[in-house]
This record gives sequence, C-alpha cells and structure tokens, in this order.
Amino acid sequence: MTTPWGLADFDAHEDIHFFTNEECGLKAIIAIHSTHLGPAAGGARFWHYTEDGHALTDALRLSRGMSYKNAMAGLPLGGGKAVILADENSTKSPDLLHAFGKAVDALGGRYITAEDVGMSVADMIEVRRSTQHVAGLPNSGSDVGGDPGPHTSLGVFLGIKAAAKRALGKDSVDGLHIALQGAGSVASGVALHACTEGAKLSIADVDEAKAKTLAKATGGEVVSPNEILGLEADVLSPCALGAILTEETIPGLKAPVVAGGANNQLATPEDGARLQARGILYAPDYVINGGGIINVCTEYLGDGDAALVRQRIEGIPVRLEQIWAESAASGRDPAAVADAMAQILIGRG
Ligand code: NAD
Repeated sequence: MTTPWGLADFDAHEDIHFFTNEECGLKAIIAIHSTHLGPAAGGARFWHYTEDGHALTDALRLSRGMSYKNAMAGLPLGGGKAVILADENSTKSPDLLHAFGKAVDALGGRYITAEDVGMSVADMIEVRRSTQHVAGLPNSGSDVGGDPGPHTSLGVFLGIKAAAKRALGKDSVDGLHIALQGAGSVASGVALHACTEGAKLSIADVDEAKAKTLAKATGGEVVSPNEILGLEADVLSPCALGAILTEETIPGLKAPVVAGGANNQLATPEDGARLQARGILYAPDYVINGGGIINVCTEYLGDGDAALVRQRIEGIPVRLEQIWAESAASGRDPAAVADAMAQILIGRG
C-alpha cells in the first residue's frame, strides 16, 4: 500500500485531510505543508482529475509551493492548499461549496482558503457561509481584497519587466514579443499591462474563444496551444497549468526568458537546471505569482491598505533580482536558489 509518507511529493507535510460528503458529492483534500510562519494559507482548486492520486499529488505540491510563496512574499503565513475533486461534468452546487466551507472550518483556522483554478469570488462568498477562514471576498468598504487575479497579474508583469531587464537589457516591454500560455484571469491581466506598454502578444488557450477575446482586447495574435511553448519570442509566460517545463519541452523552447504566473511550472527540480543549461532565465513561479496571495492575505490579516498591497507586490521584482544575483554568484539555478531561500525562511534550511 502506498501511504502519503511514501509519495514522491510528500515533504514533511504537517497534515493532510480528506473530506467526503456523499449527499452533495464533495470530495476534497486539504494539505497543510507548514504553519511555521503562521496559519497555512492557499487557494482551493476545483478540478476534474482522471485519477484520485493525481489530486493528492497536486495538493502536496501546491501546498508546499504556498509555504515557499508566502515566505518569499514576506507574509506571516504558512502554506496549505485545498483540492476539490470535480465530477466529469464539473458540477459545483451551493451545497458542495457549503460543505467545503465546513471542512475548512473544521480545521479551526489552521488553513485559510481562497480562490484558485476553477473557483471564483462568488464561490468564496458561498464558502464564507460556513467558515470565516476564507479570503478573496469582494471588497466591503476596504480597498483590499476581492479577486486576487489582477494582483497576481501585476506581480507577474513586474517580474517579466525585471527579467527583460536582466536577460535582455530592456527597461520596458515596449516592442518585446511575449508568448502567453493561457487566456484566463492571470494571463488577461498580464496581457493588458503588457500591451499598454507596447508589447506584442501571442496567446494560446485550449478554450480558443477565450484566446480570441483576449487577443482582440490586446491587439494580440491567437496561436495553437501546441505551438505556444516553442514560439520564437522574447518571453514565454506560462499562465495556465503546471508541469509544462519538462525534459521533453525544454529543448524546444526558443524564448530566452520564462516568466509566468502558473503554479509548479517545473515538472521536476532538474528542469530548473535544464533551463539554466540552455541559457534561459527563469523566474521561479511561486515568487513571481505572489501578488494574489499578498492581496488576499493583507485583506485576511487586516494589517494594511491598497498602498501596502502595492508596496508588497513591488517587492516581487526585488526578490527575483536577489535570486538571480545569488544564482549568478553560486552557479545554482534560480529555482534551486529560491527553494533554499524559502526553506531557510520556514525553518527547514
Ligand atoms: P483560469 O482558470 O482563469 O485560467 C487558466 C486558463 O488556462 C484557462 O483559460 C484554461 O482554459 C487555460 N488552459 C488550461 N490548460 C491549457 C493548456 N494546456 N494550454 C493553454 N491554455 C490552457 O486560472 P488563473 O486564475 O488565470 O490561473 C492560471 C495559473 O496561475 C494557475 O496555474 C494558477 O494556479 C496560477 N495562479 C493563479 C493565481 C490567481 O490569483 N488567480 C495566483 C497564483 C497562481
């Protein structure tokens, strides 16, 4: 029998919870990686997995990523993640969201939930009926909170600019060609910032209608999802799902910079070294995509306003610069450098 302790992605997670409610069809996993810096915070993903084991792997990887992300964003929070296993039709009822909220509540504040892929602000309002341990709700009188997507996008955009400066010597993305994988919430915000500054965009999404809408709004061009990774571009910005940078895909990359918002872009830790060996500058995902959690956690913690959120997000390119400088000095790839920095911050260095 394989136990969670024996799984490749198990990393001394503090606890892993499985929730089932047959009446409403809830099947959910909440993985808490670390509470060293504070309660474990991280979004809830609603996704149809062909095998339950894939959902557990996702929960383990994503929760560890949240520990690292929160620590590197300077937040007083640990890392956790929820995965809700959708059925084949991705049926999401208010009762299911209510039951998920009860599951979060049962953890007594050790885990704070928020949106991730497949979940919306409206869903979070439903979840809030059963627990107060939720962030990413609509602004109610405060100027922080709400959809984390635009804040994630801003951080990713600032990270792309920092990478363009370091790798290409450019002070702006004006005239640069950015290949965007995904046309969802994060990608849309990145595209709007980038086109405002004069970037040329190529956009791919498995949902072609979304790619077309975003391309129309930004003067970009739609390309097929199969072509986007290998496109001749200045920057590849993965803003869809994880594990897309692999032993198989990295040799085909043509952009000298990979900087995007998707979580867990590297399939294995060795892929960070593979990118470096190819001379590609990589912005570690959990550092560049920390803007959303900065916003929702500033809302949840109630420790600041929109100016503090902006200031914390502006820390993202500064942190990336530290990582790249350390990488250049030590010869280790940026992903490995970021992991080592994060591990020290969460008391595991
Ligand atoms: P989203 O659901 O709004 O958008 C994701 C998009 O990717 C969808 O349009 C989907 O059709 C598309 N997609 C899926 N597989 C694809 C493929 N193989 N090729 C091209 N497109 C594909 O999600 P989002 O909120 O924009 O999040 C995108 C990524 O960023 C995820 O990995 C998420 O975990 C990460 N992220 C999001 C936030 C946030 O604030 N929303 C914060 C941090 C990290």
